Amino acid sequence: MSDTADFVQECPTCGRRLHIRVEYLGRVVCCNHCKGKLLASDQPQEAMPSDSGIGLIMRAEELLELAEQRKARPR
Ligand SMILES: [Zn+2]
Repeated sequence: MSDTADFVQECPTCGRRLHIRVEYLGRVVCCNHCKGKLLASDQPQEAMPSDSGIGLIMRAEELLELAEQRKARPR
């Protein structure tokens, strides 16, 4: 028995299956095929951790705020 293992994840850029070692879980890795970057995760994309969802919402709110500021900007 080996104490290293890998899991298969599809590259979001080229769609190929990548074998990623478990030690890279949660890290950004490069695809061997297209050199695209992806976050190594053994969770399906639909089941992203909730904190990354919050990050996206905060980002959206930031952008909305910027748009509001631009609209309300006095001349
Ligand atoms: Zn790729």
